[in-house]
Amino acid sequence: MKIFFLISMTAFSLFSYGQTGKGKAHLATTKDFNYKVEEFADMGILRYQVPDIEQLTTKQKELLYYLTEAALQGRDILYDQNCKYNLPIRRILETIYVNADDKTSENFKALELYLKEIWVSNGIHHHYSGDKFIPNFSQEYFAGEFFKLPDEIQKACLKFDFNVNFAIIDAVIFAPTLYPKKTNQAANEDLILTSAGNYYDGVTQQEAEDFYNNLKDTTDKEPISYGLNSKLVKKDSKIYEDVYKVGGLYSAALEKVVYWLEKAAKVAENSAQRAAIEELVKFNKSGDLKDFDAYAILWVKDVNSLIDFVNGFTESYGDPLGMKASWESVVNFKNLNATKRTEIISQNAQWFEQNSPIDNQYKKEEVKGVTAKVITAAILGGDCYPTTPIGINLPNSNWIRAAHGSKSVTIDNIVEAYDEAAKGNGFSKEFYWSENEIALVEKYGTLTSALHTDMHECLGHASGKLLAGVDADAMKAYGSTIEEARADLFALYFLGDKKMVELGLLSDNEAFKAEYYTYFNNGLLMQLTRIIPGNDIEEAHMRNRQLIARWVLEKSKDDKALEIVERNGEHFVKVNDYQLLQKHIGELLALIQKIKSTGDFKGAQNLVETYGVKVDKSINQEIRDRYAKLNIKPYKGFVNPVYTPVFDKKGNFIDLKIDYTEGYAEQHLRYSREYSNL
Ligand code: ZN
Repeated sequence: MKIFFLISMTAFSLFSYGQTGKGKAHLATTKDFNYKVEEFADMGILRYQVPDIEQLTTKQKELLYYLTEAALQGRDILYDQNCKYNLPIRRILETIYVNADDKTSENFKALELYLKEIWVSNGIHHHYSGDKFIPNFSQEYFAGEFFKLPDEIQKACLKFDFNVNFAIIDAVIFAPTLYPKKTNQAANEDLILTSAGNYYDGVTQQEAEDFYNNLKDTTDKEPISYGLNSKLVKKDSKIYEDVYKVGGLYSAALEKVVYWLEKAAKVAENSAQRAAIEELVKFNKSGDLKDFDAYAILWVKDVNSLIDFVNGFTESYGDPLGMKASWESVVNFKNLNATKRTEIISQNAQWFEQNSPIDNQYKKEEVKGVTAKVITAAILGGDCYPTTPIGINLPNSNWIRAAHGSKSVTIDNIVEAYDEAAKGNGFSKEFYWSENEIALVEKYGTLTSALHTDMHECLGHASGKLLAGVDADAMKAYGSTIEEARADLFALYFLGDKKMVELGLLSDNEAFKAEYYTYFNNGLLMQLTRIIPGNDIEEAHMRNRQLIARWVLEKSKDDKALEIVERNGEHFVKVNDYQLLQKHIGELLALIQKIKSTGDFKGAQNLVETYGVKVDKSINQEIRDRYAKLNIKPYKGFVNPVYTPVFDKKGNFIDLKIDYTEGYAEQHLRYSREYSNL
């Protein structure tokens, strides 16, 4: 599971207050580091630093390098998963972009913008809303530029193992009714047939559900993650899985991934890490989900290595049925100093579970091995690039989490980049109710939001249990929203507990209010800036935030713990009683845990549809207008650093150079040159 950056996060850095040694020291270079790369449409592109990389040993740097290469080799897989026309479209646009004679015309500029948006989203649908981009260059211009290209280049752009020609590409780009949505969540339609995602071919939702229901053995206590690494295909009235593996679907990319993973295994830090990497290689070759589970268990056990990584088919947010995983990678190493914070949390996991406001029958008797650490990302790939989570908790398999635990991380150097880039943007003055809230969030906000992320990942997702016989997929399309809400509520509830001060995680009993204020502000108002008026909320994390905020707002109708108030025609969130707010958070946590534990689909549907989906149109427009005034881009993406290995005369690895100067378009064009595997 992933957690994303909240747009209302404070502009103040976690690391600049010297908070009781839990942050990390700034590098001397930080002051001069330029976090901003460029802005376009609704995106701000940032770069992130990789502090302390020079402190890795030569062998660790070698390992890191091989893993960063493995992380970049899967790029094309994600494009193809998001929509089967993404790769030919990207290839055509990049070719025109590089070769156009006139790079000053309005049409060219519109094409450039469209291509930049595609790079952000790994395809033609917005990375967050899932809506198809509508380009502003003309069809005539597009055709004219394409047919100007030499014949063999045209052919190379369109060379694919399925039937594609220029007319199809043209229609996919320009026709509004073709593939309008990446992942459709509207429950009253066939979710597969109305989604542009490429996880199914020729099957209906009913056929897919039947296929997997037939495969599932409900008595199996160690069930594999059905469908995780395959496309479900219907051909000649036969339904079968086209498996992602070496020798199967996406072989050309996976072979390269395996090549670099095998090199990495040879320089692993220890035998536990080597075993995990070797098992991942085995899984990429076999495509057998039993091997994937074996890998996941070995990966959870590898807790002593400094360097760690995710590489492969991991998260299922892109599949409307929540089964099939997109390809992603993050390579990282432990931030030893900041990890002390998360160690305190995970050492007390059992206390939190026992004191949770949920019914005792839904509590885990024993919370196993919730390891949590703060990490420094070294490279982002696949579905973690260029937009990236700030926290990750894996593996996703419920039985592995219960039997072997999970690893939870907070990515501090990404959070730092967000915070540094947001300094002085005028946000809190525009949207916070009074100077009190501004001061509160200034004083505590960055630490409390980091703690929220830590607790969401290493306590929230790990808490609670399903009653015996309850299907882990019972929530169906509402599963992600309910699960994210559960994790958020768990974190929010305990942030307001005096235990946080006892453990030394917060300095006083005021601090949690900063996170409550920003969270409810975000859930009720701020995040609406991402919604085009008239649209519903689709994305699971956004749904969960609004669900929590609106439910608590309704609960507060009489006690006025939480209100939306109007001043000079503008709306603000006002918290009158933080203790009552915490009580309501606990009530909703108890309700959602009950729904999850008992597999109450109707209950989940009712909560999500009532509180999480619909938007107040006039407030929506107001927030967008006020946001536009500030000229803050609601989404952020990143460029990666460039790594260059240094070898001695005999070809031995001796050092790894890191460079931060690569631009956004420059990076994507280079990736397309060097890592176009499909
Ligand atoms: Zn989560």
